[in-house]
Formats: sequence, structure tokens, C-alpha cells
Amino acid sequence: MSVFDHSEFDNHEHVAFYHDEKAGLSAIIAVHNTNLGPALGGCRMWPYINSAEALTDVLRLSKGMTYKSAMANLKLGGGKSVIIGDPRKIKTPEMMTAMGKFVDSLGGKYFTAEDSGISVTDLQIMAKESEFIAGTKAQYHYAGETADGNPAPSTAYGVFVGVKASVEHALKSDLNGVRVAIQGMGHVGYRLAEHLHNAGAKLFVTDIYPEGVDRAVKELGATAVAPEEIYGLDVDVVAPCAMGASINDETLSTLKAKVIAGAANNQLAREEIGDVLQERGIIYAPDYVINAGGVIDIYHQRMSSSNEALRDHLDQIGDTLKEIFERADAEGRATSRVANVIAEERFKNKG
Ligand code: NAD
Repeated sequence: MSVFDHSEFDNHEHVAFYHDEKAGLSAIIAVHNTNLGPALGGCRMWPYINSAEALTDVLRLSKGMTYKSAMANLKLGGGKSVIIGDPRKIKTPEMMTAMGKFVDSLGGKYFTAEDSGISVTDLQIMAKESEFIAGTKAQYHYAGETADGNPAPSTAYGVFVGVKASVEHALKSDLNGVRVAIQGMGHVGYRLAEHLHNAGAKLFVTDIYPEGVDRAVKELGATAVAPEEIYGLDVDVVAPCAMGASINDETLSTLKAKVIAGAANNQLAREEIGDVLQERGIIYAPDYVINAGGVIDIYHQRMSSSNEALRDHLDQIGDTLKEIFERADAEGRATSRVANVIAEERFKNKG
């Protein structure tokens, strides 16, 4: 297994491997770049088929965090950690203790937080071993409600701000009467639907499970559609809020919307899809820009912040998107490529 010549290596500063036989822990921490500040990124526990697959995932995710934090105007770098194994089968408190020690061994170069397979309880165990564990408690809420540690409300509000900015740019209108199709009625998708409904949008929603969809139909007057129909609807906006790679050759072939703006990570199946969107005049809000509310939330929970400061920071997502759209128009380039360039301008050569 190669590291320095790995296709996803991309000048990572630090890649650390850790094994604790007694605790059953095999983990990797990847720190992509710390020019803007210490690296922050969640810890993912996943049943990777081998360590090579885990390495590829952690390198890709860690680099993504550098770009996400830079675009969110956070004085943070990008990093991520992965634990190899099925969290439902082999996760133990001893393993979380060992992971806490591993994070601590990097001396503050990397802060961890929640990701798939890792809960707030797991982080609280890690936090007994290290001060570099984020997401263990929450005190601020952008709307002044009780914070429960889940960043999804901030993510959903940030996506809402982003949808508004995208619609203003593409359709020169506010959200009243705008037709929005949302894929995924989960933690973020449902909350986004509530914001959009309150702003007067007409909603079309789908999920592979009925609960969220039924609720949206009942409480928000949404129209339920089948999962395979959501990207081909005659709507103004599609908001991917489920899994990655949902903007692909198949969905593009039926897409009618003029705006793509949603919460999912890695929405474009490949980079060139961004160019196709630009050529077709479709405004794409780059995923790591519009969905940065979660990392912004974690940052404020750790600082001596306030509800208002958190909200102001989330509102900046709209300004950043406007900057990207205007530059993309002026340069005739894809918004996804412009976002990468701006992020690199911010984090490269700052060290
Ligand atoms: P979630 O698991 O609560 O919700 C995802 C929903 O999508 C689920 O209800 C699931 O059933 C549905 N779904 C999955 N595949 C589908 C399909 N093919 N068609 C229709 N529905 C489908 O997750 P979440 O926390 O709401 O996050 C949504 C997306 O946003 C994810 O891609 C996540 O990585 C990203 N994201 C989330 C946060 C956050 O704070 N939670 C932050 C940044 C990015």
C-alpha cells in the first residue's frame, strides 16, 4: 500500500497509522493542510474491506475538509480520521479510549468530531484522553433554541441561505412560489423543507423511507414523488440531501431545474459534470460551500461564541456563493472549479 504516491495523496502534511491490539483499534488520521489553523474533521467508523480502502477514504475526506473550512472562512485546516470495522459489531468503550489517545498523540494538529458510525457518546469517551475532541457538547443555536449537539439544524439553515442566494442569482427572484424538489427527508432535508415552506416555496419530496415524506406532505403541503422521479421533475431547484454522486449522466439526462443546491457531500459523480452544468446554464451551488453549516456549528460550539455569531457566520454562506457565481459568470467557468480556485487561494502559501 503506497502513501506518498497514492492517487489521493495531494501533498498531505501528516498521515498517521495506529494499532492497539488489546483495544481492537486500527485507525488512520490524515491531516491534509494546516496553513489556516489546526485540522478539523470527523472520525468515521466503517467496515472497510481493507486498509487500502480506508486510506483512500481518509485522504479524500481530509482534503475535502481543507476546502470546506477555507470557504467557510474558518481558521481551520483539513483533516479526518477513520476506524476500520463495523461500528454495530466491534465498537467498544476501550476502542474509543484508544482512539482518544491516538488523536491526542498529534498534539493538537488534528481535532476530531462526529461522522458516520461515531456518536456524541463515543466522542465523550475520547475526550477523557484528549482535549482535541470537538462535538461533545453544544450550547449555541443559530435561532436561539436549545442546542442538542446535532449540527443538522445549522447545516439545514446554511443550505436554506444557499438556496436563497442561488435562486436570487439564477431566477432573479425570492423563494415565494419557487418549485423545489428535495431528495432525502432526513436530518437536514426535512429541516430545509421547513425553511423553504416558510419562505413560500412549493415542495416536491422523496425518500426511500416513508416517515419524513409523509410528515412533509401533512405538515408542509409537499407533494410526494417516487425516488427515481425526483431529478426529472419540472421544478426550478433540485436539492440533493441524500447520498453522494446523485448528479450523474443519468440524472443529467432528464434534469429540468435551473438550480442545484443541497446538503449532500460529493454531489457531482465526476468533476467534468460541473462543466456540463455551466454549459447548460444550470447554477450549481458547490456542495462543500453550501453544506458547511455543520463545521461552522462545531467551530462555534468550541469557541466562546454566541447564538448571533453562529447565525451571522451561517449567513455568510450566501455571500460566498454569490462571489462564486459572479466569478464563474465573469470567467465562463464552472462554479465547482471556481470554488476550488478560491479555496486554494485562501489556504495555499499561508503557512
Ligand atoms: P440522514 O441520513 O439523516 O438523511 C438522509 C436521507 O436520505 C435519509 O432519510 C435516507 O433514507 C435518504 N435517502 C438515502 N438514499 C436515498 C435515495 N436514493 N433517494 C431518496 N432518499 C434517499 O442524513 P443527513 O444528516 O440529513 O445528511 C444528508 C446529506 O447531507 C448527507 O449526504 C450528509 O453527508 C450531508 N451533510 C450532512 C451534514 C449534517 O450536519 N448532518 C453536514 C454536511 C453534509
